Amino acid sequence: PYTGPSAGQVLAQRREFLNPGIITYYKHPIMIVQGKMQWLWDDAGKRYLDALGGIVTVSVGHCHPHVVAAAHQQNELLQHATTLYLHPNIGEFAEKLASTLPGDLKVCYFVNSGSEANDLALLMARLYTGNYDVIALRNAYHGGNAAGMGLTANSNWKFNVPHSFGVHHAQTPYSYRGVFGYDDPDAGRKYADDVKQVIDYATSGKIAAFIAESMQGVGGFVEFPAGYLQHAYGHARAAGGVCIADEVQTGFGRTGTNFWGFQNHGVVPDIVTMAKGIGNGAPLAAVVTTPKIAAMLTQKTHFNTFGGNPVVCAIGTAVLDVIAREKTQQNCLELGRHLLAGLNKLKEKHALIGDVRGQGLMVGLEFVKDRQTKEPAKEACQQVVENCRELGLLVGKGGLWGQTIRMAPPMNITKADADFILAVLDEAIGAAA
Ligand code: PMP
Repeated sequence: PYTGPSAGQVLAQRREFLNPGIITYYKHPIMIVQGKMQWLWDDAGKRYLDALGGIVTVSVGHCHPHVVAAAHQQNELLQHATTLYLHPNIGEFAEKLASTLPGDLKVCYFVNSGSEANDLALLMARLYTGNYDVIALRNAYHGGNAAGMGLTANSNWKFNVPHSFGVHHAQTPYSYRGVFGYDDPDAGRKYADDVKQVIDYATSGKIAAFIAESMQGVGGFVEFPAGYLQHAYGHARAAGGVCIADEVQTGFGRTGTNFWGFQNHGVVPDIVTMAKGIGNGAPLAAVVTTPKIAAMLTQKTHFNTFGGNPVVCAIGTAVLDVIAREKTQQNCLELGRHLLAGLNKLKEKHALIGDVRGQGLMVGLEFVKDRQTKEPAKEACQQVVENCRELGLLVGKGGLWGQTIRMAPPMNITKADADFILAVLDEAIGAAA
């Protein structure tokens, strides 16, 4: 059993010594002291099924033995020396990672977070194209540093400081709330027209990049209609831009049908950014691109002290091994279908659920006060999150108003876990309505 400081003590410490901008979930913050695969334990020994996965980050399970062993082994041998020197781990991991990507996407640059990855991707895109303007999407989240905040388009995450230099936000292809609904077979092309409009009206006509998540994460698991990315990429490339896929949440087989989220849309980007699931919780992220784009960085010196250190690269390789060995992508596909079917049944029962969506083990429920007006049910959503916690299930929130429940558990959950999620949600939503 846990014998450390109490949650109260830790909270008091946090209030005094940690920046108050660091948010906690729940009215009474939960203290997690142990994890094993899909399970988490709090200080009182209560067990939770982790359906948020450390915000779409714990890909192969908390403290997966293979990942722990790889980290441990490397920790004892060499923790850090910098990329000034050769080390086998970084090359091994880069080659393995590149083998999961199509075409010419095979040159890696390792960094420590998704925000850093997107910042670096923008730099490469601007150097390669010689252009400056960037098209991102409304309702997107790409990070909290200057570049990431600029690309992000959700007022909750944008501070009132100068940002978004050269970034223009196109309409988000949000079938549930947008102007072209699920019933419009041509919605993808129509939404993509706005990318062209923004290029024509807001830029010189030449752009550096178009960047999009392959399914919007923080925005509330918003999936793009068929054809959207194909058309958007077409417009971006016609204006001289490269296409960046932000796979921070959607990568590593989570969407089930493909290893990378962009593959679900039949496109091949020029630059792919990834983080979160790549390290199963270790601070690891990457920008992967083509040799031509990658070569732009040789114009000057570019350096990242921790990027690609031996320990995180050992972890990254171990994560890829587990994904292959345990067939987690297939599990995401099967359990994602099972969850979606169950969630759609819940929608028939609970008027609070306005929309059910997602793919693989990345599924969401958008709550509304009224299915006609679609007024976001923010308070009810928070109540469902609290109710789930009481019942032993951790879920996340998303969307501009915090109206969407997000679930992205470790990719190795079982059917029994999925059924538990559905049963808990049924009760938690019933009690919140
Ligand atoms: N891109 C996406 C799609 C994300 O969801 C996030 C994090 N929520 C980021 C980038 C930024 O990643 P990090 O927090 O590691 O900087």
